[in-house]
Amino acid sequence: MKNDFLLQMSDVQNTTPEYIETLFTLSNGHMGLRGSNLIQEIHKTGNPGTFVNGFYEKKPIIYGEWAYGYAENHQTIIKLPDIRGIILTVNGHQSDEEEWMIKKDTFKLNMAKGLIEESYRVQTINGESFRFSAESFTSFEYSEIYASKYTISDSNFSGEIVIEKDLSVNKNSDHYSEVDNDPRVASTKSDLTVEKYDERFEQLKAHNSQQSILFGQVNLVSDKANYKSLILDIKKNEEVTGYNFVIVSEILKQTKDKPVINELNQLIDDFEYGFLLKKQKEYFNKFWAVSDIELSGQDKLQKGIRFNLFQLFQNAGRNCTTNFAAKGLTGEGYEGHYFWDTEMYILPFFIYTQPSIAKSLLTYRSYVLPQAKKRAKKLHQKGALFAWRTIDGDEASAYYPAGTAQVHINADISHAFQLYERVTGDHQFMKETGAEVVFETARFWLSFGHFGNKEGQRQFCIDGVTGPDEYTALVNNNYYTNKMAQSNLSYAVELAGQYPEMITEFENSQWQDAARNMYLPYDEKKQIIKQDDSFLDKEVWPFEETPKENYPLLLHYHPMIIYKYQVSKQADGLLAPLLFPNDYDKEQIIRDYNYYEGVTTHDSSLSRSVFSILASRTGQKKKAYNYFMDTALMDIVDLQGNAKDGVHAANMGGSWLSLIYGFAGLSYQGSDLIIENNLPDEISNLAFTLNLRGNLIKIYLDNCKVRGKIIQKGKFIQLEELDNRLIVRFNK
Ligand code: BGC
Repeated sequence: MKNDFLLQMSDVQNTTPEYIETLFTLSNGHMGLRGSNLIQEIHKTGNPGTFVNGFYEKKPIIYGEWAYGYAENHQTIIKLPDIRGIILTVNGHQSDEEEWMIKKDTFKLNMAKGLIEESYRVQTINGESFRFSAESFTSFEYSEIYASKYTISDSNFSGEIVIEKDLSVNKNSDHYSEVDNDPRVASTKSDLTVEKYDERFEQLKAHNSQQSILFGQVNLVSDKANYKSLILDIKKNEEVTGYNFVIVSEILKQTKDKPVINELNQLIDDFEYGFLLKKQKEYFNKFWAVSDIELSGQDKLQKGIRFNLFQLFQNAGRNCTTNFAAKGLTGEGYEGHYFWDTEMYILPFFIYTQPSIAKSLLTYRSYVLPQAKKRAKKLHQKGALFAWRTIDGDEASAYYPAGTAQVHINADISHAFQLYERVTGDHQFMKETGAEVVFETARFWLSFGHFGNKEGQRQFCIDGVTGPDEYTALVNNNYYTNKMAQSNLSYAVELAGQYPEMITEFENSQWQDAARNMYLPYDEKKQIIKQDDSFLDKEVWPFEETPKENYPLLLHYHPMIIYKYQVSKQADGLLAPLLFPNDYDKEQIIRDYNYYEGVTTHDSSLSRSVFSILASRTGQKKKAYNYFMDTALMDIVDLQGNAKDGVHAANMGGSWLSLIYGFAGLSYQGSDLIIENNLPDEISNLAFTLNLRGNLIKIYLDNCKVRGKIIQKGKFIQLEELDNRLIVRFNK
């Protein structure tokens, strides 16, 4: 196996325990456990813990000044005990109570197989010594299982070694809330009720959210099972192995759910480490076969990209009722909430490589559609308004100017459904699940926006919103929002043509009218798109007088100060040419790019990939490469300084986009998909796979050509290779 599937300590920026925990998280979309110190020592470090996707607690938001319609509850993902860490006991002495000598020899995240492999030299306070090795994984075959194999060798004594896990709940929770003053980190503590469920399981209940899970472990030596600890009989210099399985059930309703417990008990009785390990390898082989990206360039780069793909794969919710949190399941930043990050940055990767995961993530939006409809009603609007940030579908943003007001989320969701349909050809899913979401979001635009007189013409306006740039709030006609709403309405009209029984003729004509007459603000003098009606009228932020240490601005300036200036936290208007390249000529994009680059701080990790892609498409190769490198290696080099709170998942999706939409110039012309060679000088080869309507196509780029090869056949497509271009045709 090539070394760049292994993440090791020498690959990462620093050795602070919290940071290491984030990077070495193991997850399977259901549960994620931070890569904590394996053998618990007397001096506790880090912020270890386990997260279950969608397992959260809610608490009322206490507003100093309340207003009608404000979000009612905080939702916070629950930090469960560290299910990785163990306590060793030898002759009555415990590793977490005395000064033992524990030396880490190896610590590897094996991304090819989805495992952590590690090994330690241990010496107890009494001088007993041995080598302790472990291999562990969150199973993809049974997502409720975290499995570990422990091996002891080279011991200088014969006797017993006891291995235990402290799974007590409500103990080491919420470390950060005491230390950090960063609004991007979790804000609520969660107290769980713990009840003994049966001999093997405890039930953990979160009262306000009405959720619970079952939590338990089993230890095995040969065939002997034990629910508390693993006891290994050591013979001097001989190797002994034992197994531990921690089971974290799916989220349950609070009633005692017998079938689930039967199933879990059955699972326990059937476990076989070797079987689970074999399956784990198969899952990862399959994943890499359809998703790997190979590229030349800086040494670190290949590994950095694989790390990003690995994190995307392992953190995606797969059960249709959960989604992809902004930090995945790697940390408590952003409280485990789902944002537009999924639709606009993460989903393209899944849509083009693993459409079944994309489908589950999209289905989640349909699952929370009732809450979105309720929300629109509460705001006296028609249709549905999706929550800006949420776990259960209800709005959880306590700061509405940079939260609820980002109504673009509605159109982002519609856009992702549209991309899914286009790439997969899965019309059935749209009929059964997606169309309703698109119609309801279209209804919202019609009732929230209005026809007004703009530049002497009747145009559709959307006022009082916040665009992606969170340093500019509550504006009229955010360019990106209007452009996306237009696309949402047009897609609704297209689907209405296919499912006329789902809407009325009148609605259809209203949607057409609004889409056709959507107002898109443009500055005739500067010849650039306007981020919104008033952005360009404001004074430009005093960049030259702002010391470096005052970035990100959000941690150093009151919003009122930030909002009065022309300054963007992240790419905003530029997302429009990125998503609709055929609507803008190259000169226009360059003018927009140059202007907005000058006023963007990139204080959000969602920004740089957009600048990289547009630089690629406009021939600014050096810039494209520099932005890309920051994107590709963001967490490995801790670029934003806050990877300790979790990985930047949207940025990881952005690194895929930078490669595929940017360097490989993926776009559409009519119904044809085009790949274009925009490789920068630093990267001479790029190879990746796309899944287009069930066809797996391997695409290769080098500095003079683009080639494509169908490696698995699906619905009809045709490839046409031109020198520096590849055309994929879908129609006969
Ligand atoms: C960004 C948002 C993003 C959120 C979660 C914020 O800093 O401005 O665009 O959705 O982080 O990643």
